[in-house]
Amino acid sequence: MSLDEITSRIAASATSHGRDPADITLIAVSKVQPPERVRAVLDQGHRIYGENRVQEAQGRWPAFQEAYDNIDLHLIGPLQTNKARQAVEMFSTIHTVDRPKLATTLARLAQERGESPEVFVQVNTGEEPQKAGCLPSEADAFIAEVRALDLPLKGLMCIPPIEEEPSLHFALLAKIAARNGLAGLSMGMSSDFETAIGQGATHIRVGSAIFGERDYG
Ligand SMILES: *Cc1c(COP(=O)(O)O)cnc(C)c1O
Repeated sequence: MSLDEITSRIAASATSHGRDPADITLIAVSKVQPPERVRAVLDQGHRIYGENRVQEAQGRWPAFQEAYDNIDLHLIGPLQTNKARQAVEMFSTIHTVDRPKLATTLARLAQERGESPEVFVQVNTGEEPQKAGCLPSEADAFIAEVRALDLPLKGLMCIPPIEEEPSLHFALLAKIAARNGLAGLSMGMSSDFETAIGQGATHIRVGSAIFGERDYG
């Protein structure tokens, strides 16, 4: 699917749900994609990209940043505390804040640098043991903790279990966000971004639908 097609599908689903398409940020998830595919999307004018590993992002984005203005990078994968400093230097937004130690480290870096990336709290809505994110039952307390640390908290993020109906997870995330007065919802990927938009997504993370299948080989 082309970027144009995705953009018109976003607009159509926003409009059909009485939403303004301008309220939805498309994060083009470029992880693992070969540089020429990323360059093609940069050449079409898109500037907001998601990566899930700090190291991979560090390897490829400085060269693109030399060549293109106003690139906006979002971290959408798990962040180890010992990579936090590199992450805040590179990303405008971190979608995966999920534990007190990481939040505290980010707050300390923000103090030191006088600026902070925007953050989302990741919620493990499916309570999957292998998946990052705080548990739904711990979310309210953790959100309060992040706020007390003065981090610029935009909202919540989730990755629904692959084999489950995503809308149940989007609804749960939206409910936790609403009761905490948070407007941002980072949810929806290639296969379900329209559903997510219908349920209030403000940030959708779309990879393979834009770039093609990832080749992990
Ligand atoms: C890879 C990834 C995506 C994009 O997935 P697609 O199915 O290729 O759109 C979105 N969010 C996260 C957290 C990811 O790791």
